[in-house]
Amino acid sequence: MTTSRRDEIAAGLETVRSRIAAACADAGRGPDEVRLVVVTKFFPASDVRILADLGVTDVGENRHQEAQAKAAECADLGLTWHFIGGLQSNKAAAVAAYADVVESVDRAKLVSGLDRGAQARDHAVDVLLQVSLDPPGREGRSGVDPDGLAALGAAVAQAGMLRLRGLMAVAPLGEDPASAFARLAGIRRDFLADHPDATWLSAGMSGDLEHAVRAGATHVRIGSAVLGSRPQVQ
Ligand SMILES: *Cc1c(COP(=O)(O)O)cnc(C)c1O
Repeated sequence: MTTSRRDEIAAGLETVRSRIAAACADAGRGPDEVRLVVVTKFFPASDVRILADLGVTDVGENRHQEAQAKAAECADLGLTWHFIGGLQSNKAAAVAAYADVVESVDRAKLVSGLDRGAQARDHAVDVLLQVSLDPPGREGRSGVDPDGLAALGAAVAQAGMLRLRGLMAVAPLGEDPASAFARLAGIRRDFLADHPDATWLSAGMSGDLEHAVRAGATHVRIGSAVLGSRPQVQ
């Protein structure tokens, strides 16, 4: 008998939920302190439906067109949609029309478009600033440099329809995630001094969620460990 897609996803979800619970226990944190965002990029809307049925509340997408279509197709599910990908400023308003959380804000140029999109929808958008943990000058790095966070945070904080919630980061390739996330915890501590309400920290993926939870992550973004390996990038 072949395993159904639902059984497959349920098994992945079970494994990831217990990994999160174990990591929280190890770190002396409550299991409810970490929210699971399942990254559904490249997977069909039918998988999103299964996830919602299995109790997932938050999903993440990284490409605007795919995210927009899937969010529309799944509008009846009441999910919280996180946009976690690189964002063009001319698409910012369109992203704010369906995303509840935009995790990848890395420059002030995105702020007016996001604010406009949120206003048009009459729905405040939660914003995380994506901070780069890469060495300066690294090819293809994304995120704002830690020393640019204060200015970017101020720009988001003054936008009427955006709520500055915290920070997001990806562990750099070629560095031990434990040391990268320890550095992130320090950056976050400094940031919280200026923005005490911006307590969210989105860090940790399928391969490194335990390190992220230890470093204080409040959100983990998990794709392949729940849904399996992604279809080849088109
Ligand atoms: C794809 C993606 C993830 C999920 O990665 P997995 O290794 O499949 O868990 C997390 N964060 C971002 C920013 C991503 O683009």
